[in-house]
Amino acid sequence: MFTCNNLNLLTFTYFLKLFLGISMTIIPFIYLEKTFIKIIKYKEKHKKLDKFIFKKQIKGFIYVIILFILAFTLHNSLNKDSNVCYTYANKDVFLEYIKTYKSLENKKISLEVKEKYLENTIIKTYNSSINKDNKKTNSTLNLISSALKDDDKVDESIKEETLNLIETDYNKFNNVYVVDGVFYYPLFRSGNWSTYSGTSCPSDPASQGYNNPYGYNNYFYTRLTKFIADANENGYKITFSTQGCRTYNTQVYYYNTMVRGRAAYPGYSLHGFGIASDLEFYQSDGSICGYGRTDSSCPSMGWAHQNASKYGLTFPLLQASYREDWHIEPINKNKY
Ligand SMILES: [Zn+2]
Repeated sequence: MFTCNNLNLLTFTYFLKLFLGISMTIIPFIYLEKTFIKIIKYKEKHKKLDKFIFKKQIKGFIYVIILFILAFTLHNSLNKDSNVCYTYANKDVFLEYIKTYKSLENKKISLEVKEKYLENTIIKTYNSSINKDNKKTNSTLNLISSALKDDDKVDESIKEETLNLIETDYNKFNNVYVVDGVFYYPLFRSGNWSTYSGTSCPSDPASQGYNNPYGYNNYFYTRLTKFIADANENGYKITFSTQGCRTYNTQVYYYNTMVRGRAAYPGYSLHGFGIASDLEFYQSDGSICGYGRTDSSCPSMGWAHQNASKYGLTFPLLQASYREDWHIEPINKNKY
């Protein structure tokens, strides 16, 4: 997708759009108004209208028409889905972009992450400014629906969970940044080892700013432990792997020793970025849920699959050809 995560480009696009808009509306309006006044004045002075006065105005009129046609054609050819930068360039987006750009300016984070973040700012602001237009209709609909199901109270705990997910931290934990609850991990580039998962697992997490001894990303770990604690509180025993960050060599070992398709290709696994975990599920008698288990035969797993999203977590491999009903990751992820 073509975006405009560059201040100069967005500024240019925004003012171009503004100029084209003015060329199609205000300029023709002012011109027509002035011409009209001139003609009236001419009539007052000469008590009649003749060809001469219209001839005099025709040149300017042609210019205005040409300007309108050019602006209209250019606007329509730029205002396409493929040209997100032009389509998205409105006042809200422009102002929000400048604000975000300034707040990021002196932060010591990589250019790629900044650009990705700015790109998301544009998309988010654009969508919310579009939503603003729909709000009126929506608020009426909301009133009706809330009147219909008056006894449906909003679950305050879920609301709280969602609020907690607005985490932002430009510090790198095993090459992963968290911005507005989105986990940014490196885009795998063959030959560039810094982008391989598992190559920067902490050797001593406790002394390297991690909030856990395993090397899990701090924010993923916080979500995970809250999730497990709530499961246990509800009577479902779940534990998580203490292999918080899987090193590249371990992934190579898994890849070579397991059936093809079972372990991710070395360099790709989210386990190597500390943002994936493998869970163990237990029955109420304390025995482990074994082979062939389902959500109903193993209620703790059922609870986990049902509730993960409330904690910003997901089980992405439930539908995979090699189903991994134990593999959990953050919901919002993006590559940089
Ligand atoms: Zn896994």
